[in-house]
Amino acid sequence: MSREKLEQLGIRLPMFPTTSVGSFPKPDYLMKARGEFAKKKITRADLDQAERKATEFWIRKQEELGVDVLVDGEMYRGDMVAYFAEKLIGFEEGGLVRSYGNRYYHKPIITGEVRWTSPMTVDWWKYAQSLTSRPVKGMLTGPYTVMDWSFNEHYPDRRATCLALAAPIRQEVEALIQAGAKIIQVDEPACSVRPEELPLIIESMHVVTDGLPAYFISHLCYGAFETIYPGMLDLPVDNFDMEFSNSAFDMLDLFRRHRYTKDISFGVVDVHTHVVEPESVVEERLRRGLEVLPKEAVWVDPDCGLKTRTVDEAIGKMEALVRVAKTFRT
Ligand SMILES: [Zn+2]
Repeated sequence: MSREKLEQLGIRLPMFPTTSVGSFPKPDYLMKARGEFAKKKITRADLDQAERKATEFWIRKQEELGVDVLVDGEMYRGDMVAYFAEKLIGFEEGGLVRSYGNRYYHKPIITGEVRWTSPMTVDWWKYAQSLTSRPVKGMLTGPYTVMDWSFNEHYPDRRATCLALAAPIRQEVEALIQAGAKIIQVDEPACSVRPEELPLIIESMHVVTDGLPAYFISHLCYGAFETIYPGMLDLPVDNFDMEFSNSAFDMLDLFRRHRYTKDISFGVVDVHTHVVEPESVVEERLRRGLEVLPKEAVWVDPDCGLKTRTVDEAIGKMEALVRVAKTFRT
């Protein structure tokens, strides 16, 4: 359990801390503003204003719901890889490819040496944190996932590409810490696509996190974890954030066979369904997790980002999980 580490960082959290993975749905006025900006009908400043308004909405909403560790909701992001590719030097925008479901994104192309020149997320983090006294997570996409979801035309192989990306991502982590962030999430949803590359994911995460004073979470999303567990426990982060509700709790069997040793952000609501789960269902899910996991290690959150749900569904799901976490505390 890394509660000690959090306390050293000055963060006190209740049992079963509640959080969310990162993204919330964009309100209608922001979707409209994004469309108008794309057609050059409004300025970047107008879009920025809509993004700030939506960020404030989600910060207030999370506070109202009683969430413990907040996120900015990613109102300024389109895609989790393209956003960073647009900000870093060395990338060009590629053609549209399908990511999941019916969503498409511009798969970035690495055409030169990747470099960090200025903070990519720090202003948003600062703005979100200025609106609340609760901790707000810094959020980045990890080097392995950026590598896997981009085309590479510059580096000799996947390893060189991944490690070249790790350095600028560490610079962003350092900038977040400098700004005051204490909990930083480095997402690696691609972590299980090639099990033989697990050592590379671990090596690159060392580059990103080693020696830095922050509590690190990695959202691993879903995947063939049976192919990389228990080896993945060597990733140098404090907390894995994983899907459980939509994957029939398969991971729990793995944890039974080989003890799980980190904190865990345990997904108790499914982000792929419009149905807002009743509290009894959420309770049952958390109870199943606690049959295997020590209660001190468990954070409570949704399976994944809620950006594909409606605003009301996202609020409903967060409300249910916060209520259940509170019940379990007593
Ligand atoms: Zn996910």
